[in-house]
Amino acid sequence: MSNDSDKSALEGAHLDTLAVRAGIARTPEGEHSEPIFTTSSYVFDDAADAAARFAGDVPGNVYSRYTNPTVRTFEERIAALEGGEAAVGTSSGMAAILSVCMALLKTGDHVICSRNVFGTTVNLFGKYMARFGVEVSFVHLLDLAQWRAAVRPNTAMLFLETPSNPLCEVADMDALSALARESDALLVVDNCFCTPALQTPLALGADIVVHSATKYLDGQGRCVGGAAVGGREHMEEVLTFLRTCGPTMSPFNAWVFLKGLETLRLRMEAHSRAALELARWLQQQPLVERVYYAGLEDHPGHALAQRQQRAFGGVLSFAVRGGRKQAWQCIDATRIMTLTANLGDAKTTIVHPATTTHGRLSESERAEAGVTENLIRVSVGLEHVDDLKADLQRGLDALD
Ligand SMILES: *Cc1c(COP(=O)(O)O)cnc(C)c1O
Repeated sequence: MSNDSDKSALEGAHLDTLAVRAGIARTPEGEHSEPIFTTSSYVFDDAADAAARFAGDVPGNVYSRYTNPTVRTFEERIAALEGGEAAVGTSSGMAAILSVCMALLKTGDHVICSRNVFGTTVNLFGKYMARFGVEVSFVHLLDLAQWRAAVRPNTAMLFLETPSNPLCEVADMDALSALARESDALLVVDNCFCTPALQTPLALGADIVVHSATKYLDGQGRCVGGAAVGGREHMEEVLTFLRTCGPTMSPFNAWVFLKGLETLRLRMEAHSRAALELARWLQQQPLVERVYYAGLEDHPGHALAQRQQRAFGGVLSFAVRGGRKQAWQCIDATRIMTLTANLGDAKTTIVHPATTTHGRLSESERAEAGVTENLIRVSVGLEHVDDLKADLQRGLDALD
């Protein structure tokens, strides 16, 4: 396999250039688009070569649970975009989080996790990590005093998402990365909502970034996958876990994500632009009580988001006048938006968090997370914003 002529040409290149070019390694066929290597194993030159590759004395592929050229191209590209030394592709976003935990935590360690993270992440820490003797404290994303008070001598990891789902709360990365450093703990950030097009947590003091590539990195709702990005030593540990335990990314999915990355910035800007316009429009509707979007000047996280993010992203939430009945009426009367819990798609999606994504929380946990019965979350897609306004107008017209 011949490498692209001059990798050093990409040193210091802009995100747009890296998103299209980073990680390309052409075969002697000279293909322009990245090939999909659908092979489980690889052929050795001779017995001595097989021995050397197995021993790791010479680089080269052995088996696709270990390495695959298409997956490697994806890993190099997402590492370049996040500004990390290395990345590891995984079979899902949850596999990325699990792999980071399994590689870097041990029995007796303590984790502090934001309560306002993806629901399955809460279960991963609260049920499975706890079962293997990793202690977990859950704190409110915005309450620095809670984070500080939760630190113990054995605290090994701080875990958060910013902005949060569904209220777009914005974490103070300066303060939390300082706390992680003081506590000798790793700061792990799920960058699913912003993607590196809008925010690079490693540059804001995080040690590791995790992704559900299923969302914006793909951008068209086609594949499930994930990634972890960080320093070379940490990623070596994560890769060793993957090689041993197997939640690897499929080459086909890696190829889909590579194509997604090429248009990531353009899409994130379009999502953000439409979301801001829709948020402003919603604010003017008499049947809308409150709009949650960090791009709005009156959102508590607005100034922080301006500092940490290049735009405000595609997800917003709003509360309609009334309760569950009115929220359901609004959702059911829309005809363009899709009723599904997924997000980060070209197609706009709408969902009632209290009875779906946050339905397993207790009433008090939901109240604490600010997920009220009248709340609706929209992941703004790439349709014309006027059609989305008309669709939500249909929804609001249906309210009792
Ligand atoms: C979807 C999601 C995940 C989990 O990713 P999967 O690819 O579904 O495993 C993790 N974090 C966030 C913020 C998500 O939205």
